[in-house]
Amino acid sequence: MKTVKKRYVLKFPPQSGDKPLSYVLVKEYDISINILKAEVIPGKRGNLLLELEGKISNIKKGIKYLETHQVECDLLDKKIKLNQNKCINCGNCTAVCFAGALSMHPVTWELQFNKKQCIVCELCLNACPMNLFEIDFHNEN
Ligand code: SF4
Ligand code: SF4
Repeated sequence: MKTVKKRYVLKFPPQSGDKPLSYVLVKEYDISINILKAEVIPGKRGNLLLELEGKISNIKKGIKYLETHQVECDLLDKKIKLNQNKCINCGNCTAVCFAGALSMHPVTWELQFNKKQCIVCELCLNACPMNLFEIDFHNEN
């Protein structure tokens, strides 16, 4: 069976810090984990944006396992769309894209959008004077 990639926002309860939850996902469910963003404050809720790769049945089981340990799991089924034809290459959006998905080409100074690096933080939506970014709720996976 082929593997798929799914992005989830996970919200961990404060007491979950000592549980090897990610270890179980890798060992028991054969899921690869790529942490795209982490906000963890000791003693408080922790939020992680993860990309999980594995068989769809295993990802579902792994998510169920997390939910039984009081981890909230939200499938991230939106993407950022850019209407690049109208871009004036001002570079404003690159200043807010800390994930490195937006950059200026070093020679042509044209905007480059690497969708694979986008973590859908949505900061570019307000940064573009031409309003060229929008949220696409369609999930290709
Ligand atoms: S949504 Fe965030 S990560 Fe994605 S392109 Fe915009 S600023 Fe970059
Ligand atoms: S802010 Fe808008 S117009 Fe400027 S480079 Fe980015 S997408 Fe293009």
